[in-house]
Amino acid sequence: MVVEVSSIDDLVGSVKPGTSGWSVWRPLEENADSEVPVAVLVGENPGPTLWIQGALHGNEFDAAIATQAALRGIRLEDLRGTVIGLPVVNGIGHRAGARVLPGDGKDPNRQFPGDPQGTDSERLAFALSSALANHATYFVDVHSSTETFLGIDHTIYLVADNPTATLSRQMAQASGTAVMWESTGGWLQGSAYIWAANRGIPSVLLDVGEIQGFSHVDQAASGLLGVLRGLDMLPHVSASGLSEFITVRDPEWIRAQAPGLLTHSVRIGSEVHEGTELFRVLDLDGRELQTASCPFSDGVVVTIRRPHQARVDEDVVSIGRRVGSSTSDVPVDPVPDVLES
Ligand SMILES: [Zn+2]
Repeated sequence: MVVEVSSIDDLVGSVKPGTSGWSVWRPLEENADSEVPVAVLVGENPGPTLWIQGALHGNEFDAAIATQAALRGIRLEDLRGTVIGLPVVNGIGHRAGARVLPGDGKDPNRQFPGDPQGTDSERLAFALSSALANHATYFVDVHSSTETFLGIDHTIYLVADNPTATLSRQMAQASGTAVMWESTGGWLQGSAYIWAANRGIPSVLLDVGEIQGFSHVDQAASGLLGVLRGLDMLPHVSASGLSEFITVRDPEWIRAQAPGLLTHSVRIGSEVHEGTELFRVLDLDGRELQTASCPFSDGVVVTIRRPHQARVDEDVVSIGRRVGSSTSDVPVDPVPDVLES
């Protein structure tokens, strides 16, 4: 059923239990490029509302596809509560093939809660934070690797000593990603998940990870359905397994100190220790200008910049400090074939 409405509020109000509706939302009224599709899925049984959004960074295409696949994988007869899904929230960046909004060049995921009188990115963040505040009981912000960065599949949540952080951690575990990143904010200040968690909305950033085609996107879509099962919004499908994951704290960027060609000595997911060589910067003759090594022990490589002509002070490799390696205490169901449903 397609519903013609002008706002997310109207769409949510018009979809009856046991049905779903799609609409188009234009967060920047004067800019048609900001238009994005919104799905509202309402289960037959009442319950909480999960807001799932993808591609806040407009060029994170796998994030959009994983979000679409998860929405298609939800059976309304099984759903308790409501899912609001936006496979692409940064329509302007997405249409330009860009991470940010070209008008102001700012990263929208550093502007939350945004500003209604601000630049395009600040206004997009404000539109999203307002809608989230009105509707979301829980929030998942889906990201992925790009042409620039390659990352391991991971979830990020704001670590704190409160019930929101406990629920956020459970959502992260239920997604079944390889790495769980405990964030204290740091260089991710202004991110949507931090803003939402500070408002008491349990939240995770789920990164689809390395681009390996459909199987990887499928795994992320299943991880999103795992979050729904972990919240008891979907039934568990069978005797559940327990997933293994690594926990890291606040990854740090190791940067290029000379301009030149990047060549990597580690892969995403590599375990590294103090002194482990991470990458080299070479001149055009192949002479070494920099050899970068890990500055601390018990590190895990989370993100790598793809080989290119590096600039001084550019982020090249992010290393998380490993704080644990655990088996999930949240049941993780087998991966369903969401693309067939
Ligand atoms: Zn992103």
